[in-house]
Amino acid sequence: MCDAVVDGRNLVLMSEQQDLSTPTPSWDPKTLIVAGGRPAHTNDGPVNHPITFTSTYHSHGLAGAGDRVYARFSNPSWDPFEEVLGQLEQADYPALVFSSGMAAISAALTLVPEGGVLVLPKHSYNGSLGLSAELQAAGRFTVRPVDVANTDEVLSAMTGADVLWLESPTNPMLEVADLPALLAAAKAAGVLSIVDNTFATPLLQQPLTLGADLVVHSVTKYLSGHSDLILGAVVTSDEQLRSKLHGHRTLHGAIASPMDVFLALRGVRTLSVRIERSQANSQILAERLAEHSKVTSVRYPGLPSDPGHQRATEQMSGYGSVISFTVGATAADADKLIDELALITGATSLGGVETLAERRARHANEPDSVPDNLIRLSVGIEAVEDLWLDLHQALELI
Ligand SMILES: *Cc1c(COP(=O)(O)O)cnc(C)c1O
Repeated sequence: MCDAVVDGRNLVLMSEQQDLSTPTPSWDPKTLIVAGGRPAHTNDGPVNHPITFTSTYHSHGLAGAGDRVYARFSNPSWDPFEEVLGQLEQADYPALVFSSGMAAISAALTLVPEGGVLVLPKHSYNGSLGLSAELQAAGRFTVRPVDVANTDEVLSAMTGADVLWLESPTNPMLEVADLPALLAAAKAAGVLSIVDNTFATPLLQQPLTLGADLVVHSVTKYLSGHSDLILGAVVTSDEQLRSKLHGHRTLHGAIASPMDVFLALRGVRTLSVRIERSQANSQILAERLAEHSKVTSVRYPGLPSDPGHQRATEQMSGYGSVISFTVGATAADADKLIDELALITGATSLGGVETLAERRARHANEPDSVPDNLIRLSVGIEAVEDLWLDLHQALELI
């Protein structure tokens, strides 16, 4: 046990001494997701990296012992995905994969100093809210909740704060934060900034280029894209921060399965075509939902009437593929709608090729300000008319 811990520390020190930075090819991100993280072009070489199932590596002798040592410290199956995600976010270093988005978030929250202050959007992902509340209750730090769409409120909450946590668009309320303004202000004030970029993905916005110190992802969602695995990641251009999080991953042990990372890399290859289709579908569905008499409100940044539309147009290269809408008047109306859907699946999660619908307030830990009859629709890549027919027939039955 003791030896493993010492080895873990040694490994972190060793990796600090290596030059981890990899030059990013000047390809368009749509090319990068396809061509990045490939083995060298050699005759008879495979076009995909193999999956390395091992718990340990040959390493013996003082001189020339390998760097990998043990598979909690590193795995060659993580490298290509970490490289591609790092390059997509325009980071100077490869990303670090974790066993889940929450494992990545949990590691990122260790960056809040003991007794410090964390500024956190009220409508963040409910796991981020739950974990922060738990850490606050344990006396680790203080949470300052903010309405992230209200830039003045966030700016004043930043006074005396240590870490600014941002999510944009937020899950599930789809509020859009003014990322350029908030990240520049955080930098000027010396407040560490962390952005959960799960909803947008690096194809639609790149927070590190706007001054964020760290990006976290639930790779479970769009990046992997097929609802078949749980995975997370952090990305940064700050070498010290990266080394700290790498050390945390090694010692706390929330590491990824090589199989899951292989599947995530396979999924990310098609990210741009998936997003292209799901966004086009979302725009059409949001417009039609907004016109329907049983639908009482719609949030989708692509609607010109949406409060986040202007900001999203300025800072994102697309509006994403999640729509939130309220239906009828009660939770029962929303539950009935989901029960009546035949093609669209009633399930939590988002970012897969298939369209999913969920009444978010069914989760006890969802903030009270999320309406009881709000449905979060994660729009997939099916034919849009089939999706609309399904929604339309179910709406008629409420
Ligand atoms: C799902 C989600 C997470 C948590 O990720 P897991 O992979 O489920 O642990 C974090 N942030 C956002 C915005 C999410 O949607």
